[in-house]
Amino acid sequence: MNAKLQMVDLVGQYQKIKSEVDEAVLDVMAKASFIGGDRVKSFKANLEKYLGARHVIPCANGTDALQIAFMALGLQPGDEVIVPAFTYVATAEVIALLHLKPVLVDVNIDDFNIDIRKVKEAIGPRTKAIVPVHLFGQCAEMEAIMKIAREHNLYVVEDNAQAIGADYIYADGRRVKGGTISDIGCTSFFPSKNLGCYGDGGALFTQDDDLSKKITMIANHGQSVQYYHDVVGVNSRLDSIQAAILDIKLKHLDAYAAARIQAANYYDAAFAHHPHLITPCRNKHSTHVFHQYTLRVTNGQRDALKEFLTLHQIPCAIYYPLPLYQQKAFAPFCDAVNFLPVTDQLCKEVISLPMHTELTPGSQDIIIEKVLSFFK
Ligand SMILES: *Cc1c(COP(=O)(O)O)cnc(C)c1O
Repeated sequence: MNAKLQMVDLVGQYQKIKSEVDEAVLDVMAKASFIGGDRVKSFKANLEKYLGARHVIPCANGTDALQIAFMALGLQPGDEVIVPAFTYVATAEVIALLHLKPVLVDVNIDDFNIDIRKVKEAIGPRTKAIVPVHLFGQCAEMEAIMKIAREHNLYVVEDNAQAIGADYIYADGRRVKGGTISDIGCTSFFPSKNLGCYGDGGALFTQDDDLSKKITMIANHGQSVQYYHDVVGVNSRLDSIQAAILDIKLKHLDAYAAARIQAANYYDAAFAHHPHLITPCRNKHSTHVFHQYTLRVTNGQRDALKEFLTLHQIPCAIYYPLPLYQQKAFAPFCDAVNFLPVTDQLCKEVISLPMHTELTPGSQDIIIEKVLSFFK
């Protein structure tokens, strides 16, 4: 009955840009220029302009972007990197993979982003970097984080995989794009992300010329002259078909964000003042581009609500069900972490509803009606 309801409607989105996308993809195929070339250069330049970033370095996916960032900063095995415990695994995974130590800290109950008080407490002699994640589409408190980082001589890497296009708003009113504030910003173009391609893709942003050179070299087997390898690198490229698609979708990014915000406002109006639901907060220091629309269910019935919605064919999802520090893979890094109360609470309370660029009030009414009927 609700066959049309989906968490993300990528088919509907494609239909609206089909002719432009098809033409661009066919052109790449006709020229057989699958790697590098004009399409990648053009997307890189357009994204630099959009973000106000001095350098954008495209790569193969968001996880690679994070890994390359830590490699470029020259962190050494055993160095500690402070990460929120309530995030997608990729953020902490690459830190562990490079034999750095992820130090997982708690998040804010209202915006789900890293708690700057916990960041301060977690800083020790081996701390080298902080990784704020702009979770679900809203920036972390970057001004405060950059201040802490300067005081302690730490690098900051923004995980902007979920918030591309969001504005960070300084206390003085100045606006910049999230991801461009710290040493390196990282993003993902996974299909369901706010700027998604038709496969895998990612990018790093930096304002620093030297870091840009290092990142470019590391992403390309550690070479800047072909077959001369100065550092150990990786193979991480954005392919030309994905770049062509991203270049087209970038022009729509602000309109896509506006559609998401409109859908979020519509949900907000329906769920405001509900005794058992808390709608997403909107920070003063950031716009919200709603990668996810995430409610908190405060009466202990989150899992029952999820079952109820699933039974009635209303898509929903739990991002994230288990804190990173309780994951088997991260047990070796978390000996000192017994309990992060806010992360724990959020993992039990959050539920995300369908959120995408093609949502209509009609389909939202069906979703809203079912959510509200659960509590009756
Ligand atoms: C999606 C995502 C990533 C990883 O991106 P991939 O392109 O899937 O590798 C990293 N961090 C966060 C917060 C994400 O949401």
